[in-house]
Amino acid sequence: TNTSDDSNKTLVDSNTSEKTLLEREDSMDSQDGLLHRWDRGNSLSITLKEWDIPYEQLKIGDVIGTGRFGTVYKGIWHGSVAIKMLNMDEDTDNQAQISAFKLEVAMLKNTRHENLLLFMGACMKPPHLAIVTSYCSGQTLYTHVRSNREKLQMNKIILIAQQIAQGMGYLHARNIVHKDLKTKNIFLENGKVVITDFGLFNVTKLCHGNRKGDWLHISPGWLCYLSPEIIRQLNIRGSVDLKFTERSDIFAFGTIWYELLVGEWPFRNQPPESIIWQVGRGIKQSLGMVAAPREVKELLLLCWLYKMDDRPGFKQILKLLDRLPKKRLVRSPSHPVQLSRSVDS
Ligand code: ADP
Ligand code: MG
Repeated sequence: TNTSDDSNKTLVDSNTSEKTLLEREDSMDSQDGLLHRWDRGNSLSITLKEWDIPYEQLKIGDVIGTGRFGTVYKGIWHGSVAIKMLNMDEDTDNQAQISAFKLEVAMLKNTRHENLLLFMGACMKPPHLAIVTSYCSGQTLYTHVRSNREKLQMNKIILIAQQIAQGMGYLHARNIVHKDLKTKNIFLENGKVVITDFGLFNVTKLCHGNRKGDWLHISPGWLCYLSPEIIRQLNIRGSVDLKFTERSDIFAFGTIWYELLVGEWPFRNQPPESIIWQVGRGIKQSLGMVAAPREVKELLLLCWLYKMDDRPGFKQILKLLDRLPKKRLVRSPSHPVQLSRSVDS
């Protein structure tokens, strides 16, 4: 379990509002849990009920770890599963939390892609709100890039990035923004990439422990994936929802690309305030020490562009990845990477 990057927390204003979610839920016919809005045009008219797993049916095993959600358990439900138990606030009858949860479950049930974690169902009866997915036996990419540096050759890195871009391209084609794309949310199983936790950010921020009043916990391990436009929203007092977009996912993909190349997060060991200050102004981690071909660094700079509309989409990223020179080894820098003061706005 790894919660170490959560130890160095600052508090950033985020007046968590469930308003938009509630409004959306209100606009649906939610009688009997039917979500017609989501099923429009679908003759099968799938209901959320079909994805409801009675809590009693789950065999809950060991704790795998604790994250922003609450606790993840290993479990059994027709085979090995991972169970994300949501630690809701004390007043578990909170309608906003349950609505947010159901809304995200409605979205999850429509995701089917080789590189996306398989969603199996959810427990939707309070106080037991949980998401049940397939269990990943592999390592996270976070661990992988840090423990297998010497083995990570350029062609392997490209294969990993291509699979991430494919899974993400699928999500974006379905108008699903990941909102929490990071190496800890990507598993590697025998070379296959499995992306997890897409679209769940609204649930996580409603969970107990992520908020203190209107403040949201920020950890350095999260900050380096946040694009300048998101970072700038952190600074606005009373800012409610962080407006994650497909382009903020692209920025996060850039950070993953950096991690694949260097084996570390950008702005390593810098305090959150300093990262917020720099990224918000368009200052990037310098690539001077990254020993990789020019095209490899160019891809990084494209994903990290200050203006969100200038960043490429995953289709274009896939094209760029395809053209990269494949054979060369990437070496991690032996000393800390310096900062550059370049702003491209
Ligand atoms: P984070 O993503 O920040 O690590 P999570 O709450 O998503 O936090 O996960 C907590 C722990 O559970 C992590 O160690 C994560 O790797 C593990 N985990 C999450 N989902 C699965 C899964 N489907 N299979 C196996 N382990 C998982
Ligand atoms: Mg996760």
